[in-house]
Amino acid sequence: MTLRVGVIGTGAIGKEHIHRITNKLTGARIVAVNDVNAAQAEAAAKGAGVDARVFDSGQELINSPEVDATIVASWGPTHEEFVLASIAAGKPVFCEKPLAVTAEGCRKIVDAEMAHGKRLVQVGFMRRYDRSYRQLKKVLDDEKIGAPLILNCAHRAPAAPGFKGDMAITDSIVHELDVLRWLLNDDYVSAQVILPRKTRLCDADLQDPHVILLRTAQGILINIESFVNAQYGYDIQCHVVGETGTASLPEPADVILRSEAKLSRAILVDWQLRFIDAFDVEFQDWIDCSIRGEAQGPSSWDGYVVSVTTDACVKAKQTGNIEPINIPAIPAFYAG
Ligand code: NAP
Repeated sequence: MTLRVGVIGTGAIGKEHIHRITNKLTGARIVAVNDVNAAQAEAAAKGAGVDARVFDSGQELINSPEVDATIVASWGPTHEEFVLASIAAGKPVFCEKPLAVTAEGCRKIVDAEMAHGKRLVQVGFMRRYDRSYRQLKKVLDDEKIGAPLILNCAHRAPAAPGFKGDMAITDSIVHELDVLRWLLNDDYVSAQVILPRKTRLCDADLQDPHVILLRTAQGILINIESFVNAQYGYDIQCHVVGETGTASLPEPADVILRSEAKLSRAILVDWQLRFIDAFDVEFQDWIDCSIRGEAQGPSSWDGYVVSVTTDACVKAKQTGNIEPINIPAIPAFYAG
C-alpha cells in the first residue's frame, strides 16, 4: 500500500516535508496540498515534482476520500482545528509542534483521541529520532552511569529573526522539554527561569539568554541554557551527571582538522542540518506506522505535557518564582 498524504501549510517546513516524502522516503505519495495561499501550495508541490490536488481548505483536504493521512505544517494556532478534524475523520495525522497553542487545546485533542479509541496523532518532536540523542538514551537506559542526577543542557542558535516575547521558550525550548523527559523516562514537577545579563546583540525588547531550571519527579535537576542569538553557530548540548559517571550528547560528526598550527572542527550554523537525518527517520517511521495502522512516535499526551510545562516556564519567567508543574497521571491509553 502507498500512503496517500495531504499537507496543510506549505511554508518553510511544509515544503521540506513534501520534498522529503517525494524524493527521499518510501511508502507514501503527496496527493493533496492546502495553504491560505493556494498559489504557494501549488508551487510547493510542483517544486518537488508532485502533481497534487490543491484544496481550498484544510478541512476539505482531511475529509477527502483521496487522502489517507495528513501532515499539519501550518501556523501553530491552526493546528488544534486540523488535528481534531483528522481524529473525527479517523485518519492518521502528523502535527508539527505545537500540538495546540494552549494546554486546554492539547487536552481537547487527547480527550478526542481517547474517545475515538485508537491513537492517530504524532507530534513533530524530531529530536527523539536523532541518532546522537538515541545513543545517549541507550547509555542511560543501560544504566552505564547509574541513576542520572543532574543534566546540563544548552540550546544555542546563531540568531532568531522575528523572535519576540517568550518565543525562545514556546518555539525552541519545547524541543528540549520533550526530548529530556523522553531521555529520562521522567516528568517535570517544577520550573524556575533565571535571566542572566542580556546580550547586546539582539532586539532591545528580547530577553536573551535564559536559564531554565527544571526538577523532575525523581528529583533530577535540569539546567537548560537557551541562547538564541549566540552568533557562532547552532549548538545543542546535553551533559548528564550520573551516580557513577557522566555522559554527553555526541557532537555532530565532522572531519577533525590539524592544519596551520590549529586543531579544528567545523561548527554547524543551521538547525535543519543538525536534525535533517532525524526528520527523515521520523517521517519514515510515521509512514510505516500509518500503513500498519499504528501510531508510535511522540503522542498527543506528549504534546499536552510539553504544553503544560511550557506554560509553567513562561509563568516562572514572569514571576521569578519556582512554579509547580502539575501533570496528571498518564492515561493507560498512552502508557507504554
Ligand atoms: P511558515 O513558513 O510560516 O509556514 C506556515 C504556512 O502555513 C504558511 O504558508 C501559512 O500561510 C500557512 N497557513 C497559515 N494558516 C493556515 C491555514 N489556516 N490553512 C492553511 N495554511 C495556513 O512556518 P514554518 O516555519 O513552516 O512552520 C510551520 C509549523 O511548523 C509551525 O507550527 C512551526 O512551529 C513548526 N516547525 C517545526 C519545526 C521543528 O523543528 N519540528 C521547525 C520549523 C517549524 P501564510 O504565510 O500566508 O500565513
